[in-house]
Amino acid sequence: MDYEVTKIEMKQTFKECPACQYSDGFHSMFQKEDDVTRWLFICPACHRVFDIGFTCPVPCSN
Ligand SMILES: [Zn+2]
Repeated sequence: MDYEVTKIEMKQTFKECPACQYSDGFHSMFQKEDDVTRWLFICPACHRVFDIGFTCPVPCSN
């Protein structure tokens, strides 16, 4: 990994970047880890990566 993931706790909304205060939301990225896929959020302004605890269901495999 060439980026650092910052774990934070989501408040009422997760719209403003806690690092740079950019306030128009985030890009998404997904990262497989064992049997879960993490749903991570990238600030479009400062490009920090945040983990607010979201995961995605892994698609069924055959
Ligand atoms: Zn930011």
